Amino acid sequence: IDDKEPLVFEAVKMHVNDMDISFPRQLFIDNEFVDASSGATFNTINPSDESVICSIAKGTPDDVNRAVEAAKVAFEEGEWGKMNARDRGTLMYKLADLMEQHQEELATIESIDSGAVYTLALKTHVGMSITTFRYFAGWCDKIQGSTIPINHARPSKNLTYTKKEPLGVCAIITPWNYPLMMLAWKMAACLAAGNTVVLKPAQVTPLTALKFAELVVKAGFPPGVINILPGPGSSIGQALSEHPHVRKLGFTGSTPIGKTIMESCSKVNLKKVSLELGGKSPLIIFSDCDMDKAVRMGLSSVFFNKGENCIAAGRLFVEESIHDEYVERCVAEIKKMKIGNPLDRSVDHGPQNHRAHLEKLLEYCDTGVKEGATLVYGGKQCDMKGLFMEPTVFTDVEDHMFIADEESFGPVMIISKFQDGDVDGVIKRANNTEYGLASGVFTKDINKAMYVADQIDAGTVFVNTYNKTDVAAPFGGFKQSGFGKDLGEEALHEYLKTKAVTVEYGQQ
Ligand code: NAD
Repeated sequence: IDDKEPLVFEAVKMHVNDMDISFPRQLFIDNEFVDASSGATFNTINPSDESVICSIAKGTPDDVNRAVEAAKVAFEEGEWGKMNARDRGTLMYKLADLMEQHQEELATIESIDSGAVYTLALKTHVGMSITTFRYFAGWCDKIQGSTIPINHARPSKNLTYTKKEPLGVCAIITPWNYPLMMLAWKMAACLAAGNTVVLKPAQVTPLTALKFAELVVKAGFPPGVINILPGPGSSIGQALSEHPHVRKLGFTGSTPIGKTIMESCSKVNLKKVSLELGGKSPLIIFSDCDMDKAVRMGLSSVFFNKGENCIAAGRLFVEESIHDEYVERCVAEIKKMKIGNPLDRSVDHGPQNHRAHLEKLLEYCDTGVKEGATLVYGGKQCDMKGLFMEPTVFTDVEDHMFIADEESFGPVMIISKFQDGDVDGVIKRANNTEYGLASGVFTKDINKAMYVADQIDAGTVFVNTYNKTDVAAPFGGFKQSGFGKDLGEEALHEYLKTKAVTVEYGQQ
């Protein structure tokens, strides 16, 4: 890949862990980095020490109008709208290659801005983003409709065929837990389908999206195809949801904001919407499990990405006869976890994403104690600089308690017992939640595992594993965890519309 003309933008430059890193700090509209129309900026904070990383242009509703207009022109009049689907795929592969060339830099930026430990940022946040772009690049020239018989006379006089068409300008709004990966999951499918896009990353973690924008220009995307506007959800997120020229809104975030967005999307032009929302995923551990694996994966189901993981197991149901041993072994492992600066390669557990979130988590733990759950480990802020929280374990959590019901979105393991052999009883309790994002089961009995997988009301079921998300498998929740899928072939259809063409031919 030849780097094109050097980009002109206000770069933030840093030297971290013997690496030079740089990224833009302005809005990205029509392939240019520009200040906000109001000139306003906001600071983004490093959660490891609460220092200011840099200031970033703060988008306004006027900037939303500019970005949507650029995306509309790119779709309706620009080369993107007319481009051969294969060439679209080639551009996406180029972008993925550039992301790979810059993967250490992207992972470092992600780690500083979000608090994810570097090794995870490299493998998951950035690694899976690259794989996602490659996966959807491959779909560009494989999007097709079908032919449908509408009468069965011979010889036939009718033919109905369907065509899959892009929607136009799509908006994407993402959360702060996997800033680059959430961008990739939605944007790659959206672009493969032939749309143009305006992305609003979470205000607290805008940096990898801006570095990504730099690579978009280097890859050779035409102006206006991808636009990125950091800033507050309440103003620019709202403006995108209501905008009359946006045809689709793909959202990942909390359930309450998802509901607001759905309302806004119906106000002006009835946009297509997909919502990937919160979860309180049950993990059922039977006494006939592989105990070593159930401990290892149980810990990962909760503490992966310091618990800031939408599919995190929000509640573990452990069969009574192994409950005490299971808790003991988990706590022994948690004590070995190294907490500290996420850029240190030996660290297992980084800081929580931002101060308000840490405070909410500490309050969540206080509530657990007040309502009578047993705090076995942790529950406090670590005695060190930065937004670090002790990995926490609660047991004796009863079904009526707040912490049994509410998502923590942090490093809090919540364990309840179930009676030996009570398979149907534990399934009923696992399903007794308004969410339905993910779930898991550990048992060596394949019949029991398949029975649980059938009965659980959640979009994903992990059997004898957890967090094993793959770009080819559809991902998305049931009930108040939202609707619509990211990843896999199904994600493409979130960004396409189906047209049916009926033809009459021959002698009438
Ligand atoms: P959030 O809902 O507060 O914010 C998500 C995004 O919405 C941000 O970009 C925010 O700026 C924007 N926003 C806020 N108010 C808005 C408004 N009125 N109109 C339009 N946009 C608005 O969520 P969060 O705190 O960033 O993320 C945590 C939540 O996300 C958790 O509940 C978690 O479970 C969920 N999540 C779900 C998935 C999934 O795939 N299901 C993945 C990651 C996170």
